[in-house]
Amino acid sequence: MDFSLNDEQKMIIETVRRFIGEELAPLEDALEQAGTLDDVTARAIHCKAKALGLYAMNMPEALGGGGLSNLDRILCEEQFGHTSDMLIRRAFGNVYEPLLHCQGSQVERWLKPSIAGTRTGAICITEPGAGSDAAGIKTNARKNDKGWLLNGSKHFISDGEWSDFFLVSAKTGEKEISMFMVDKGLAGFTLGKDQKMMGLRGTPHLELFFDNVQLDEAALLGAQGQGFKLAMGALNVVRLAQVGARSVGKATHVCELMMDWAAERKQFDTRIGDFQMVQQMLADSVIEISAARWMVYQAAWMLDQGLEAREQIAMVKVHAAETLGRVVDRAVQVFGGMGFCKELPIERYYRDARIYRIFDGTSEIHRGVIAKSALKKGAALFDIHR
Ligand SMILES: Cc1cc2nc3c(=O)[nH]c(=O)nc-3n(C[C@H](O)[C@H](O)[C@H](O)COP(=O)(O)OP(=O)(O)OC[C@H]3O[C@@H](n4cnc5c(N)ncnc54)[C@H](O)[C@@H]3O)c2cc1C
Repeated sequence: MDFSLNDEQKMIIETVRRFIGEELAPLEDALEQAGTLDDVTARAIHCKAKALGLYAMNMPEALGGGGLSNLDRILCEEQFGHTSDMLIRRAFGNVYEPLLHCQGSQVERWLKPSIAGTRTGAICITEPGAGSDAAGIKTNARKNDKGWLLNGSKHFISDGEWSDFFLVSAKTGEKEISMFMVDKGLAGFTLGKDQKMMGLRGTPHLELFFDNVQLDEAALLGAQGQGFKLAMGALNVVRLAQVGARSVGKATHVCELMMDWAAERKQFDTRIGDFQMVQQMLADSVIEISAARWMVYQAAWMLDQGLEAREQIAMVKVHAAETLGRVVDRAVQVFGGMGFCKELPIERYYRDARIYRIFDGTSEIHRGVIAKSALKKGAALFDIHR
């Protein structure tokens, strides 16, 4: 068992880390204040990242992407946790894996432009009446002579405003769900309001409305009734990367600030880091982050070996997101009043962290997956010696 990183991996991490430090971190405060990123800045960071080969790193090299393995991608995603979600989206892209199921004309129309960064896509599953129960959607698509007629609505769609097309789940039968690629600007397709959130300032989260939107035949991703399954499978890796690895990166970032503060701040003529109760908060954070990190790496390694990692990723989702929650909470405590004050970013990290336990499947939903599997498989689920 070799836990070391090779030179190439170290170089990718270093390049991403430097780019975030030099190009993105200086933009964070202004983004937080304004709540939006202007087009010129977005374009500039996109072009710089692309020139360094850092755009769409998760996509195959043959299609113009970075061709990273799952493990290498996770190493980058961990670094992405060190800055704002919105800056990561614009600089490095957010090309969703389900698009790899594009075929024929779909490749030139949606997949390749996404990898090139000339088109941006959002993933649209959640509806006001269907969140955790993703199969309980009402949005539907009926076959007609021109293709498909789409009706319904979605909400909470991340990056909606910046997206040129939308990967939409819709019922195509009583118990059948398919995925469609829906271009912005189609008649009957309207963007609703930006739903303001507790955190993730700068990333828009939109309502979408479909009123008899005519889609052509090519809009269907995968086979009828299969697209949803394909998308959910592909989203496993998104969950591991954008929640698991990013949670580890975010927790690491905050923990480092917390340690520096504990080492410098004095009360009672003593560094607060010398008080045992503060030390416990630091130690628990370091232990939990380390455990979460190796869980993320192991799951990524499993994917690279072609192994089924659904349960492992469910465990990662719960543990990494909840570790992040505990670490940011401790950071506010260790920073005291300054942890709550907007003069430092700690309160922002606290707000931004809360969603990680909710999106991409809540902790409860993933615990359900793990428990069901445990009842079926017993110790074989978590004991590698069985
Ligand atoms: C900032 C943000 C960004 C998002 N981005 C996107 C996006 O880009 N695309 C997209 O499609 N969606 C997106 N979502 C939606 C997100 O995935 C859902 O909010 C999430 O899946 C939970 O669904 P819900 O909000 O409807 O909560 P509900 O499903 O109503 O859950 C409410 C509570 O009930 C619990 N619960 C529900 N079912 C069970 C059960 N079976 N067992 C135990 N407990 C249960 C939940 O765990 C939770 O605690 C986003 C949401 C937010 C807030």
